[in-house]
Amino acid sequence: KEQHMRKPDWLKIKLNTNESYTGLKKMMREKKLHTVCEEARCPNIHECWAVRKTATFMILGDICTRGCRFCAVKTGLPTELDLQEPERVAESVETMGLKHVVITAVARDDLKDGGAAVFAETVRAVRRKNPFCTIEVLPSDMLGNESSLQTLMDARPNIMNHNIETVRRLTPKVRARAKYDRTLEFLRRAKEMHPDIPTKSSLMVGLGETKEEILETMDDLRANNVDILTIGQYLQPTKKHLKVIKYYHPDEFAELKEIAMQKGFSHCEAGPLVRSSYHADEQVNQAQVN
Ligand code: SF4
Ligand code: SF4
Repeated sequence: KEQHMRKPDWLKIKLNTNESYTGLKKMMREKKLHTVCEEARCPNIHECWAVRKTATFMILGDICTRGCRFCAVKTGLPTELDLQEPERVAESVETMGLKHVVITAVARDDLKDGGAAVFAETVRAVRRKNPFCTIEVLPSDMLGNESSLQTLMDARPNIMNHNIETVRRLTPKVRARAKYDRTLEFLRRAKEMHPDIPTKSSLMVGLGETKEEILETMDDLRANNVDILTIGQYLQPTKKHLKVIKYYHPDEFAELKEIAMQKGFSHCEAGPLVRSSYHADEQVNQAQVN
């Protein structure tokens, strides 16, 4: 009989059910906005929203044209493109008093530009209303479309984040449509377009990769001039998703972080609960110093 691997103690965290977000959550519904913080039931929500003043918005709808085997976002064919969304995101950033915002999006492979125009407009709208809020973008690969990438980079986000997610060997199994080399190329081109904008990528561990493969991925990212790396534990969102093969110990994360710094990343966050957007506010300053 199949046994489920037990979650180690360091992952048994209590979700903060503090009522102080009720107002903000209501605002999100009224403005028809989605945050990864809520949808992924992220354990860091209290620290991020209330203390660090950061949040991750998911724009371009909540239905993705891809179905990656680690991701809990709904899959299907999106029906609309909401041209007012950029303004509503900008207003919410203002209401929440955010200092750093991450803007991500589902993969809109149904749109010619992958949603780049609305994405870029969201960056500009947020900046117009919130000139002191730093903006990190986390787009899909937009199918490798160079002009889409240019559109987004020309909006001048403070960080361009694009996730590698897993090591080369596991990419076809874990990600839908995305390709390992296309991800690297995306990051390399982004850097070439605006060398002063820091680039960033995230890796999930626990999907069956070896340590050598993790180090190889770090080398591949550095070879494409990626500045910032985050490494976090993969957690299975539902039984239909890929199983966790290994829970890494916090000491192993500490070691990976040390190796990453030796390899020349300007900043690395690594830990069991580290998510792509975790402590992102610190990375802007660090990356600018470096
Ligand atoms: Fe939201 Fe990211 Fe913070 Fe989680 S870590 S609450 S997803 S900003
Ligand atoms: Fe999830 Fe992104 Fe994959 Fe869509 S492309 S399924 S949002 S990880």
